[in-house]
Amino acid sequence: MSAVLITGASRGIGAATARLFAQKGWDVAINYNKSEGAAKALAEELTGLGVRACAIGADVSDPAQAAGLVERAVAQLGGLDALVCNAGVALPQQLVTDTTDAQWRQVFSTNVDGAFYTIRAATPHFVRAKAGRIVTLSSMWGMTGGSCEVAYSASKGAVIAMTRALAKELGPSGVAVNCVSPGVIATDMNAHLDEQSMEQLRQEIPLERLGTPEDVAAAIWFLCAEAPFVTGQVLSCCGGMVI
Ligand code: NAP
Repeated sequence: MSAVLITGASRGIGAATARLFAQKGWDVAINYNKSEGAAKALAEELTGLGVRACAIGADVSDPAQAAGLVERAVAQLGGLDALVCNAGVALPQQLVTDTTDAQWRQVFSTNVDGAFYTIRAATPHFVRAKAGRIVTLSSMWGMTGGSCEVAYSASKGAVIAMTRALAKELGPSGVAVNCVSPGVIATDMNAHLDEQSMEQLRQEIPLERLGTPEDVAAAIWFLCAEAPFVTGQVLSCCGGMVI
């Protein structure tokens, strides 16, 4: 049986990914930061599918907590075959001149530092095994830049560069590193947008609908389990909004 650690899996895309991997028979470590109840309920639900599932609290923006998270996941699942760096935060849309130092640091500390700390801790396990899959989560704004989304766009661009550099560094050790770049996905992250804004976004999507967390989970699954010769790639999952 294979095992995956998914950061930020208490809600949204991370939770849907945890469900999909468990349905496919993988053991799953569900990381949460604040949503302890949701993460524990999800672990219980997935255990009911006959796999090992555990909820592990850790703020990935803290290097010690990120390292502890990886150690606990390895200990509780008996190893690790894949890591999904999904935990992320966004800011309300705002001008760059209104973006505070604290907001900039908040976005970078979770989206970039958090992925770095988690990957750094998991890499020795993968290198020792001479196998492993790492999937990071960027965003279409990390590829194209979003107006009034400067901090978020910059952080997600950094995730893409980190993914490509890691793919080159870890490839000789048998570890593949890829990135999924979602478009507009219906999760809490977009809950602040009113119906009119969501409709405007929908009209820009060639597939004429918003994405679901399950859509993104399918792309993450593909890169972890069905594409052994793919590494260093950014897979857009946006209904064609960015082509
Ligand atoms: P979401 O519904 O807001 O969920 C965010 C998840 O990240 C939660 O499980 C949250 O955990 C966790 N998290 C946040 N900060 C954390 C930290 N410091 N340590 C550990 N976990 C932390 O977001 P989502 O829409 O599912 O997004 C998932 C990923 O996809 C993010 O990287 C996001 O940037 C990216 N993405 C999303 C969209 C979209 O349209 N939704 C588009 C492009 C990219 P707690 O609740 O336990 O604190």
